Amino acid sequence: APAVRLTGLEKRYGSTVAVAGVDLEIATGEVLALLGPNGAGKSTTIDMMLGLIAPDAGQARLFGRSPREAVVAGQVGAMLQTGALRDGLTVGETVAEIAALHRRPGRVPEVLAEAGLTELAGRRCAKLSGGEKQRVRFAIALISRPELIVLDEPTAGMDVEARREFWAAMRAYSDTGRTVVFATHYLEEAQSFADRVVLLRQGRVVADGTVAQIRAAA
Ligand code: ADP
Ligand code: ADP
Repeated sequence: APAVRLTGLEKRYGSTVAVAGVDLEIATGEVLALLGPNGAGKSTTIDMMLGLIAPDAGQARLFGRSPREAVVAGQVGAMLQTGALRDGLTVGETVAEIAALHRRPGRVPEVLAEAGLTELAGRRCAKLSGGEKQRVRFAIALISRPELIVLDEPTAGMDVEARREFWAAMRAYSDTGRTVVFATHYLEEAQSFADRVVLLRQGRVVADGTVAQIRAAA
């Protein structure tokens, strides 16, 4: 089974059609950008892909399973825009708390290293920059050593240097053969980091291909 298969996915909010029939198959090992302007349906698509909201029609399958089954099995890591970090905890304590929930305490030093946070392990979350907080969320997403990682605008609020560090960490992870899906509204970010770009507009896939093909369509 492919890492991700979305068939006829639809979601409406009242009279707003957030996702208007998305069909998409993502192979294992692909790094795919969901590109589109604000309101295009990226977050709603991702939330349905993760089983966080139910589609009105269609379905999402991950590795041939329902999203919930894949999440429970630890095959999927998610980094969403929400997800508050507790100010009073250190980076290490924050990651350790979630690792304990996953019964993977041994992963703490590894994911701190994978997210470039080893030197910040003792710092309180209250003292982190926005980009550093995003890297903590990234570390948390890696705890189960997921085969698929799904990121919704992971570099929102980061400056250029923080973006560079974030993508270096991401690249190191994806180079181990993992599948990555990330939402962005930056063409440059899609161009630099994705093998394949899916352009969403008004809840529909309007282009799907390499960055050159997307540029022609955008
Ligand atoms: P994107 O992530 O591309 O910015 P979204 O998936 O967040 O797009 O939103 C798609 C459309 O659905 C937008 O018009 C947005 O306002 C609407 N929408 C998203 N979530 C909700 C919600 N919970 N209630 C009402 N409308 C929503
Ligand atoms: P994004 O563009 O990344 O989707 P938003 O700021 O549009 O970010 O959405 C943030 C949150 O608010 C999401 O949980 C989304 O479902 C919800 N949301 C978005 N649009 C609306 C809306 N029109 N009414 C209610 N909730 C919304």
